[in-house]
Amino acid sequence: MTRIVIVGAGIVGAALADRLAARRGGDVVLIDRSSPGLGTSRASFAWLNANKKLPRAYFDFSVEAMREWGHLGGEFGQPSWYQAAGNLAWARSPRARDELVERVDRLRGWGYGAEVITVSRARELEPNVTIPSDAQIAFFPDEGYIHGGQAAQALVQRALSLGATLITDVEVSDLVVNHNRVTGVRLADGERIAAETVVCCAGWRSPELLAPLGIDLALVPASTPGSGTRALTVTIGRIVPQPDRVVHTPELDVRPNGEGQLLLEAGDIDSRVDIAGGDDDLDECAQELFTRARRLVPAAVSARIVEASLCVRPLPIDGHPLVGPVSGLPGLYIAVTHSGITLAPALARHASLELLGAESPILRHYRPDRASTGVPLEQAEEGSL
Ligand SMILES: Cc1cc2nc3c(=O)[nH]c(=O)nc-3n(C[C@H](O)[C@H](O)[C@H](O)COP(=O)(O)OP(=O)(O)OC[C@H]3O[C@@H](n4cnc5c(N)ncnc54)[C@H](O)[C@@H]3O)c2cc1C
Repeated sequence: MTRIVIVGAGIVGAALADRLAARRGGDVVLIDRSSPGLGTSRASFAWLNANKKLPRAYFDFSVEAMREWGHLGGEFGQPSWYQAAGNLAWARSPRARDELVERVDRLRGWGYGAEVITVSRARELEPNVTIPSDAQIAFFPDEGYIHGGQAAQALVQRALSLGATLITDVEVSDLVVNHNRVTGVRLADGERIAAETVVCCAGWRSPELLAPLGIDLALVPASTPGSGTRALTVTIGRIVPQPDRVVHTPELDVRPNGEGQLLLEAGDIDSRVDIAGGDDDLDECAQELFTRARRLVPAAVSARIVEASLCVRPLPIDGHPLVGPVSGLPGLYIAVTHSGITLAPALARHASLELLGAESPILRHYRPDRASTGVPLEQAEEGSL
């Protein structure tokens, strides 16, 4: 019995299933309590970047992941869910302007596509966006975005075509442990599935799956209001003409979302949502994002809100991935991360090699039971997205 069971078919589990299926098709079983790609990955802003990633090793890992997305885009025939469209970002306050210019300098020094551009050049690039004349602007041509849900679904489909098995709409209620080894999973309907290795890709729900095994996964608790984990993305449509790429402004982040739609997010609104109570607060936050979008994109004036998604980040306490085996508990492998949209294909490449017996020098930095780096969360977050 050589089966690998993956719990969770978000972008991380889907990318891993795809990688493993290419080598061990018939041995891979992927289980999701819902359907592939309908968790955090679907609602995510899903900007592909290494823009603020620190330290250097984490930056390099993210750049590798962006390249992997490029390969995947080619393999899938340049699908609409992968858009290497670039990112335009601007700042206005003195501190933010300095920070942006310094960041561009650092990124250029590291060989990353980044340039400071004039307002008129920015207006040429994005004629359908209102760009203030006093903005300090940077352009990152190699960044982009994906549609996380669709990408996860495509990766799962390819894994299935390579012989993997998918089980949906049933929760993994427990990991089965025998003689201090994880030997499989128990489903909510009582069925047991034996495994040589169980991989936990359950995103923000991972702690509840791992706690009964005595594993205190270093994720920020999602249930605590004000923890920084909850966020709101809003889809509006239909907007023609609209921006072509990711646009980051001091009050709103926006990107195309297919079919004439735009996806909206803002850091300060996420903070409000995170401590917000009921539906009225959420409606107010969604309306505020919409108001900002109408100021930024003239054609959004006659748009409407299509969807508002309250979502949860799987946010490691030090901001960096939690990936690998757990010492003292063979048969278990964990793959949980923030920035999971960007990282998924590189993480899957390295994790699949480890699951097939080799150790990844890159993933050695990110073991789930590592000692805390002691990096304060605000700093970790800043370095993450
Ligand atoms: C608002 C927001 C913006 C973001 N922006 C970016 C960004 O710009 N760039 C970026 O790279 N990242 C971004 N992220 C982070 C990124 O979206 C996540 O890191 C990534 O989606 C996590 O993927 P995942 O597969 O681990 O989790 P998920 O997509 O949540 O998948 C986990 C899956 O596990 C299943 N599951 C859970 N528990 C069980 C169980 N017990 N049994 C069976 N199935 C189970 C769920 O149903 C789900 O399908 C953002 C996140 C948010 C919330």
